[in-house]
Amino acid sequence: MAESKPLIPSPQPHVLIFPFPIQGHINSMLKLAEILCISGINVTFVNTQQNHSRLLSLGNVQSRFSQFSGFCFETVPDGLSDDQHHSSGFTSHRDFVKDGIHRMHNVTRPAFRELLISDRFKLDARGQVSCIITDGMSGFAIDVAQELEIPSISFRTVSACCIWIYLCFPKLVENGDMPFKVEDMDRLIRSVPEMESFLRCRDLPSFFRPTEANHPGLDFINRETSHSMRATAHIVNTFDDIEAPILAHMRSYWPNLYAIGPLNALLNALRSSSTTKVSSSLPVSSNASLYAEDRSCMTWLDEQPEKSVVYVSFGSIAMVSPEQWVEIWYGLVNSSHRFLWVRRPDWNLAKDGQESQIQAELVEATKERGYMVNWAPQEEVLNHPAVGGFFTHSGWNSTLESMVAGVPMVCWPHLGDQQVNSRYVSEVWKIGMDMKDNCNRLTVEKLIREMMGAKREELMKLAVKVAEMARKSVSHDGSSYRNYQALLEFIRKSR
Ligand code: UDP
Repeated sequence: MAESKPLIPSPQPHVLIFPFPIQGHINSMLKLAEILCISGINVTFVNTQQNHSRLLSLGNVQSRFSQFSGFCFETVPDGLSDDQHHSSGFTSHRDFVKDGIHRMHNVTRPAFRELLISDRFKLDARGQVSCIITDGMSGFAIDVAQELEIPSISFRTVSACCIWIYLCFPKLVENGDMPFKVEDMDRLIRSVPEMESFLRCRDLPSFFRPTEANHPGLDFINRETSHSMRATAHIVNTFDDIEAPILAHMRSYWPNLYAIGPLNALLNALRSSSTTKVSSSLPVSSNASLYAEDRSCMTWLDEQPEKSVVYVSFGSIAMVSPEQWVEIWYGLVNSSHRFLWVRRPDWNLAKDGQESQIQAELVEATKERGYMVNWAPQEEVLNHPAVGGFFTHSGWNSTLESMVAGVPMVCWPHLGDQQVNSRYVSEVWKIGMDMKDNCNRLTVEKLIREMMGAKREELMKLAVKVAEMARKSVSHDGSSYRNYQALLEFIRKSR
């Protein structure tokens, strides 16, 4: 339901933004929404109902957007009851993905079309919707835009290197790189241009693995990737300095491509250059959390020495088995470094009582030099002076946030693009190490010690350089800033 707010008649275009309803996608697309609002564009942001209630009850989105008279939320149903959350109650990613796709197709898709073709926007003071920016995983919105004869922009929230692999999928099959056997995991993949020298079978997106045969994710990704060809334009949350050669290849498929990332950096740059009082009154954190942020960790960080803490978080959908959970805990404690660990309440598969079996010494050691929360204000944490490293699942938002903050990474990828991202972090950008498929206490301890000790200098040199490049890309003469101006022009022409 739209929130009532006095709307001023506006000569500006009216863009409708529709994210896939999961945390990482909502975060980055809300950043885009705010960026467009700062540029004076009218924006309607469509959430699924359950996520929307969570966002409003937990986050700071209301105060963040109440200052933009051209901004409105709308909601569409998601097939979840009031007490359900999209990721709770699942014990495998397969079931989680299957359920999400099913509800999206059967419940959200028809409601989204109905919202757009109904009279809902006919009397809107901001004018009718003139352009739809849809998540690359919700391609049905492209069809609705075509029906309304307005342009559609597909926003891919994953890395360009991963999208490029998706686009090359038919070539992988044609050249015999796919399918592959479990014993081939370390074989090099030859049919993805730019990646021939370092991309192994194990670095392909997780749904490509033989162990994931019949996973609904692969069909879904292939369908959505070919669907996205019909979009009028594409947005990618990345920047030229790290992915230019890949973006050049992608333009042969998607000529109208705008690389405008890192969006968190672009948003901060626009906020600080904005002359209105909007920017100065905004909170530092720009995430829109579906979980309650525990800010006590910031006080704990304030008491720790500079660059001494490893921040540990595996994002919003990774599932960790009880065995992995114990291995990670031992590895962290044995590394002797301080750590701040986000343990999402619904994430680990430990059964009740299992925690109590874990040796008392682990709990004691954690009290001494560790701190645990259910959910953290991640961007603020990564930019805190006490944080010296990030033990991450390599989700693309987390990777970009770490890059912008200049924090080196130990990567433990779980699903989707994370396997590719972690390979790029370790082999191409060289700002971290990849722990892929190797979760045991010795490896965790070794990699954390290396990141915080022996390899720190070489990692930091490049991490600082990448952070500078990221900031430069969103400054006035930077590539992402220029691309964003071109995107604005495209959107303005759509009116
Ligand atoms: N995040 C957060 N607090 C946490 C953990 C994660 O705010 O305790 C945010 C993080 O900053 C990022 C998003 O959640 O913007 C996770 O997105 P990502 O693409 O990294 O991973 P996903 O959750 O999609 O696997």
